[in-house]
Amino acid sequence: MKILVVLEQRQGVLKSASAAVWQTTQHLARSSADAVVEGVVMGPVDVQSVKEQCRGNGILYHIADTAYDTYSPQGYTEAVTEIANRSGAEILMIAETAMGRDLAPRVALRLEASLVSDCIVDVDDTGSLRARTTMYSGTVSAIAEEKRKKAVYMLAPEALDRAAIAENDVTIQEVSVSGISKSNPFLRELVFNTRKKDITESDIVVAGGRGIGSSTGFAMLESLADVLGGTVGASRSAVDEGWRPHSDQVGQTGRTIAPRLYIACGISGAPQHLAGIAGAGTIVAINRDPDAPIFKASDYGIVGDIEEVVPDLERAVRALKE
Ligand SMILES: Cc1cc2nc3c(=O)[nH]c(=O)nc-3n(C[C@H](O)[C@H](O)[C@H](O)COP(=O)(O)OP(=O)(O)OC[C@H]3O[C@@H](n4cnc5c(N)ncnc54)[C@H](O)[C@@H]3O)c2cc1C
Repeated sequence: MKILVVLEQRQGVLKSASAAVWQTTQHLARSSADAVVEGVVMGPVDVQSVKEQCRGNGILYHIADTAYDTYSPQGYTEAVTEIANRSGAEILMIAETAMGRDLAPRVALRLEASLVSDCIVDVDDTGSLRARTTMYSGTVSAIAEEKRKKAVYMLAPEALDRAAIAENDVTIQEVSVSGISKSNPFLRELVFNTRKKDITESDIVVAGGRGIGSSTGFAMLESLADVLGGTVGASRSAVDEGWRPHSDQVGQTGRTIAPRLYIACGISGAPQHLAGIAGAGTIVAINRDPDAPIFKASDYGIVGDIEEVVPDLERAVRALKE
């Protein structure tokens, strides 16, 4: 069985979620009966650096044509479909990023493949890959039964296996595809220069909800996140209030994240919010209501006012670092 990993780059830099999907697929292939892993990456990447990040074995196809420097729905769909058909891949793996969510259904349609989104893939007793997903804001878990011969899996952040692979026998193959679609809606790329990591890529996320009270209230979360080396996230209420941008929103209609540490400040813990943090490692909740549902989902709970607890926490972290 051939698996094709679709890798994503932004401005020539491989997305860490994509490298983690490659790594996860390598681990799965080792415990499955007959899996062979291949990958495809398009655009201006440094192939040696990609090879360093995508360890294990298999072929990695690189399409260097500048027409693929930035994502275009139709162009990327055609290119990935062509490579998948050429390589004979039965399964495609792609990270659940904004691009992944746009591209995967298009490719699945072209390949007449089943599509499983937001899934975790493991190997069953027969050595075959099996995808599990959740429904209804993470309250129901389901094993996907693919009705087609091919399948496209969009891997959720919690599905990613980051255990290092020492072996590095990946071969890079420069390839071209038959042509890019003329209708590319891409106009201009807006690049935000920030030293902060995106919430989906950060190991530590400090998130605030309605309990923060105002956009200026988020300054104390920024300060705590800074000292921890993390990033600030938000609940939908905080986003709806206009205190944070939508890109910070965690949850069902926001982003799905899997940091090692998640600190929820003044967030009640609605199911739609919890759906976005199912893959988080340790969850700490700070809330003045001892009956807030978030405490049921957390590993550690602090009942108290954010305005007192957050600065105390920051002082304690600073003291530990001295
Ligand atoms: C279809 C749909 C999709 C949705 N998608 C999302 C989503 O993606 N993400 C999301 O987050 N929500 C989502 N929601 C909304 C969700 O249902 C909740 O309304 C929302 O998560 C509540 O946000 P909150 O916890 O910040 O606010 P609240 O529920 O109002 O909770 C505020 C909390 O702050 C505490 N608090 C207040 N002041 C303080 C203080 N000074 N110190 C300590 N604690 C304090 C309160 O005790 C309370 O628990 C969705 C809803 C629907 C219907």
